[in-house]
Amino acid sequence: MESEYPLTDLLITGTEINYLYVCPTKLWYFAKGITMEKESEWVGLGKFLHEQSYANEEKEVQIGSIKIDFIRKGNIIEVHEVKLGKSMETAHEMQARYYIHYLGKLGINARAVLHYPKLYETREVTLEGHEKEIEEAIAKVKHIKSLPTPPKPVKSRKCRKCAYYELCWV
Ligand code: SF4
Repeated sequence: MESEYPLTDLLITGTEINYLYVCPTKLWYFAKGITMEKESEWVGLGKFLHEQSYANEEKEVQIGSIKIDFIRKGNIIEVHEVKLGKSMETAHEMQARYYIHYLGKLGINARAVLHYPKLYETREVTLEGHEKEIEEAIAKVKHIKSLPTPPKPVKSRKCRKCAYYELCWV
């Protein structure tokens, strides 16, 4: 590991990077350990899809603060993320890039692949050209997590399926 890399950065999870791009308010609730029932339906569906689609592959490995699905290919680790749909594509891509970045800081060579089994689509995501964006995302996540109250919610289509709907809008 590079000695100048702040250890606190390694406490950030892939889900937190994902939520930064989905909704900063959601990120704050999640980071504070607030969980709501509704989310589990979607998480459950995602897990089911994953298990059905990738039954023969090694999965769910915890490395530091990140939990990844991966397989080894020669001297490189392949990080695989299975997603339901592409409505949060940027969030998916940044989560995958964060994994490459994170593993790189631990001295692990990795590549990342996103899977959309419902769409029969698989594609590689690279970190190249996005290093600065990842560093900025890490700084933003740290800032939002440090806030004493959630960022002001902004209503969007995402709210309809969000577990925190009642906290924001009821
Ligand atoms: S309900 Fe909407 S604003 Fe509130 S956390 Fe969810 S996505 Fe964000």
